Amino acid sequence: MRFPEWTNFYATQPQIESYYTEFAQAYQLDRCTRFRSFVKTCTWDDELLVWHVQVEDRDSGDLQHWMADIVCQCVGSLDRPKWGNTPGRENFKGTSWHTAHWRHDYDLKGKKIAMIGCGPSAAQIIPEIIDTVGHLTVYMRTPPVCVPRSDFQYSKYVLCDSLGTLYH
Ligand SMILES: Cc1cc2nc3c(=O)[nH]c(=O)nc-3n(C[C@H](O)[C@H](O)[C@H](O)COP(=O)(O)OP(=O)(O)OC[C@H]3O[C@@H](n4cnc5c(N)ncnc54)[C@H](O)[C@@H]3O)c2cc1C
Repeated sequence: MRFPEWTNFYATQPQIESYYTEFAQAYQLDRCTRFRSFVKTCTWDDELLVWHVQVEDRDSGDLQHWMADIVCQCVGSLDRPKWGNTPGRENFKGTSWHTAHWRHDYDLKGKKIAMIGCGPSAAQIIPEIIDTVGHLTVYMRTPPVCVPRSDFQYSKYVLCDSLGTLYH
């Protein structure tokens, strides 16, 4: 599969999303994917030699019972964002959100923004929003280490010669 729109060393978010979408469509992954499904328990059955898997439908709340020969755990370890323990945060009257749940529907144009934290998420967000917002204050507890991003556009030669190899 070729993705000639990957023009830079670091692909952008829309390019990566488009890659995932096209990949899923090409291999019809929607046919074997249950969306909005939360695995609550997995219990091994010594008599039937199967896993009993309890799955919650996140929309209806219904519980389903599946049986499986093999259970493959790919649940990651970083998918539940944690808010900092800033006292009084719950009393803040303005709009606030965690970077893991980005509010794409919210227009930041001209707004006065306070960003708490200065890790990799902030380092990626600040350059994207700085020309849109009215004012930005970044609250930094500990300075992070940042190395130059060294992004570059592929030359026409690299795009023509290597795309088939790089992006298969
Ligand atoms: C803020 C942040 C920035 C990062 N930046 C980078 C980066 O720039 N480069 C990099 O290489 N890595 C980065 N990482 C790390 C990278 O995201 C993880 O290493 C990678 O996503 C792990 O992949 P995974 O498939 O193991 O788990 P995940 O991508 O976490 O996928 C786990 C999936 O399992 C689902 N799940 C969990 N429990 C259940 C359950 N009980 N039932 C059903 N589904 C469940 C979750 O909803 C999730 O969709 C970053 C991580 C964070 C948090």
